[in-house]
Amino acid sequence: MGTMGERDVTVFYDERMLAHCPDVNNDFLPGRLDRRIKDMIGNLTVKWAYPEIAGRLTAVMELLEREPVPGVKFEPGVAATPEQLARVHTSLYVESILELRGKSAWLDVDTTSVSPGSVEAAEVAAGSAIAAAEAVCEGRTGSAFALVRPPGHHAEPVRARGFCLFNNVAVAAAHAQAKLGCKRVLIVDWDAHHGNGTQDIFWAEPDVMFFDTHRSAPFYPGSGLIEEVGAGLGEGLTVNVPVPGGSGDPAMAKAFREVLVPAADDFRPDLVLVSAGFDPHRLDLTLNMSEEGFGVLTGIVQDIADRHCDGRLAMVLEGGYHWQSLSFGVRSVLQVLAGADPPEPQVPGFAEVEAAAYFHSTAFKPAE
Ligand SMILES: [Zn+2]
Repeated sequence: MGTMGERDVTVFYDERMLAHCPDVNNDFLPGRLDRRIKDMIGNLTVKWAYPEIAGRLTAVMELLEREPVPGVKFEPGVAATPEQLARVHTSLYVESILELRGKSAWLDVDTTSVSPGSVEAAEVAAGSAIAAAEAVCEGRTGSAFALVRPPGHHAEPVRARGFCLFNNVAVAAAHAQAKLGCKRVLIVDWDAHHGNGTQDIFWAEPDVMFFDTHRSAPFYPGSGLIEEVGAGLGEGLTVNVPVPGGSGDPAMAKAFREVLVPAADDFRPDLVLVSAGFDPHRLDLTLNMSEEGFGVLTGIVQDIADRHCDGRLAMVLEGGYHWQSLSFGVRSVLQVLAGADPPEPQVPGFAEVEAAAYFHSTAFKPAE
């Protein structure tokens, strides 16, 4: 039986990441996204708001302050250097993002834009992922959770995408290989969306295994088919498990136990990183997971880290746009990291599925 507080966990959090506030309706950013969404849904008139907002992090922090998890301590974030970022992005791309400091701009055709505080927020997000990896590799903490935004797993070597500027988890993995004595790094991505950027970055890399569960196509960003397995020396080290919407905790746990665990045991990682997105929750993007489900997956990943690398496990926040499921999901993860026994997988009842449907119907609010 595990007891919470038995293992120490460090959460990296920094208010500089709250200053990333793209406003899709302001004068600097002609309402491209707004128009695009309107096109998608036809003749309805809607007001669309950027969902990747500062309130995501403050909601988590408020819950953790109100109901602290024993064994969890906090450390401030650190800004990544251009050299650290350029391990997974081209120098030209890194420069092009850094030049946007203090400005507002659109970066891609679908979702991603910046406000004056975004560049520093993105540097701190990537740097905090590095700090989390460093803290576990140096033995200063049992495990770590980088509570960051903007998220990272859609950011490609030369392109910002899907709310992501720098690929935080990839930057941490590359740093662990370059500076922390980790030869083999396992990256597990349980966000509801495929981590296309992380896959691209390590596609042919023989010492990084990338395992990704996500909602199957048609779904953003469209990649992550089971046939996508990496290439060259990295062939077989990209493992995609697309799952249908509505799959729930049992299907996710099965994918982890039956696909991830044997693959990881074969790979024998020196460090385990997790792209922890909370949008598979039933209140968010309806992979129908419960908050306990994230604790279940954490238990499986923690066992892998315990078996192969003295428990070295660092998580990095990705998506999760429903504040309640995001904050309770993070707490469920932290409880298991802190030593609690993983909870049982949950199967949501009809009322909860209805509640999720209601959330989706109100996510697009009529224009006033
Ligand atoms: Zn996502």
